[in-house]
Amino acid sequence: MMQRTLFRRGALLAQKAAVEVPLLPMSAPLQPRLDRAMSSVTIPPPECMLRPLEVPFRYLFGPGPSNVPPRVLAAGGRGIIGHMHPEMYEIMNDIKKGIQYAFQTQNNMTIAMSGSGHAAMECAVFNTVEPGESVLVAVNGIWGERVAEIAERMGANVHIMVKAPGGVFSNEEIEKALAKHKPVLFFLTHGESSAGLAHPVDGIGDLCRKHNTLFLVDAVASLGASPIFMDQQNIDILYTGSQKALNAPPGTAPISFNERACQKMFNRKTKPVSYLFDMAHLSNYWGNDGQPARLYHHTGPVLGFFSLRESLAIFAEKGLEESWRHHREVAGYLWKGLEDMGLKLFIQNKDLRLPSVTTIAIPEGYNWREMLQYIMKHHNMEMTGGLGPSTGMVMRLGLMGYNCQKTNADMALAALADALKNCKKSKA
Ligand code: PMP
Repeated sequence: MMQRTLFRRGALLAQKAAVEVPLLPMSAPLQPRLDRAMSSVTIPPPECMLRPLEVPFRYLFGPGPSNVPPRVLAAGGRGIIGHMHPEMYEIMNDIKKGIQYAFQTQNNMTIAMSGSGHAAMECAVFNTVEPGESVLVAVNGIWGERVAEIAERMGANVHIMVKAPGGVFSNEEIEKALAKHKPVLFFLTHGESSAGLAHPVDGIGDLCRKHNTLFLVDAVASLGASPIFMDQQNIDILYTGSQKALNAPPGTAPISFNERACQKMFNRKTKPVSYLFDMAHLSNYWGNDGQPARLYHHTGPVLGFFSLRESLAIFAEKGLEESWRHHREVAGYLWKGLEDMGLKLFIQNKDLRLPSVTTIAIPEGYNWREMLQYIMKHHNMEMTGGLGPSTGMVMRLGLMGYNCQKTNADMALAALADALKNCKKSKA
């Protein structure tokens, strides 16, 4: 009772307003904070911070993040240990092995970035390219656009090959551009999540070797859902994100560099523009540089790494091939349901569709924003519109990792059918 009274008086004084404040139990350390607020501080504690955290449940059936399985959440809720404790290094060593399996690579230079997929994109470009060097980027959706911008910002000489969202580059087209621009790096998105495309990768690594170019591939949206073999496909740098089929919370991003990429990035004339993403430091932090001691570089996301380890463990237990098969099966079920409902899939060739993120062409006469808002309001379900160049062309429905279940496909189909019935046809 005493606590409640104090909380109420403190909160009111702090706000200097006679508004009613809910009588919530006050945690012990709050009183000293309120005392301070009443004495010396001029900015009062914000009212929102005196309320408990609220997080609604949502069906995350968009392009990511996806709902996370309880055991991954539990791993991220374990106690903190020091980022440089031997046990943490052991966990990081496990993560490295888990990524090597997921990427199908034996590369020693395999780590997880402390950051989202963009951190891996920037790390790849910043470390392998020096200002003034030529970079070639395949743009068929937003991710090529992003990498082109990242490379441009760090002073690279950027060349782009452009196709409409979901367009596929032939190996002949790629080889022609490699011969013309002689890039040090060629970028391609494997799982183009803004277009719903799984781009073929076979043979491109060989072309890049022939032209003395590093082959950089984005597998953020495809890893675990669509097969990729880093070593066999001669991919020099491969990265992914944690929050898609890998099914951990957002905030960590596996990346791997092969020997060719290491030769280029560790024989630079200039330092990479980013200290945080400098692989010379990160390779030591991850114990990859053969040095006896790991030195302090930055404080990694300890809990994020616990969750990442757990999600990689699920891949290892289930098996990659089973994960690919399962995503393909559920996606096939979803695609049939969508077509049976009269909806058109944006990527017509089944073999080129990304199993993790399906793109639906906007049904004629419907306003896609209205439909998505309706689905969120009445079904508590996230689906999204297009992104970048695919905006206004598609709606995106992702069933990945934990969410990749036929029962979820049924729920998503029912929500879409309901939206088609109830969203008045109006101009998009
Ligand atoms: N690449 C692809 C293919 C993606 O789908 C995403 C995320 N939507 C990213 C890169 C960027 O990842 P993040 O949002 O984690 O930075």
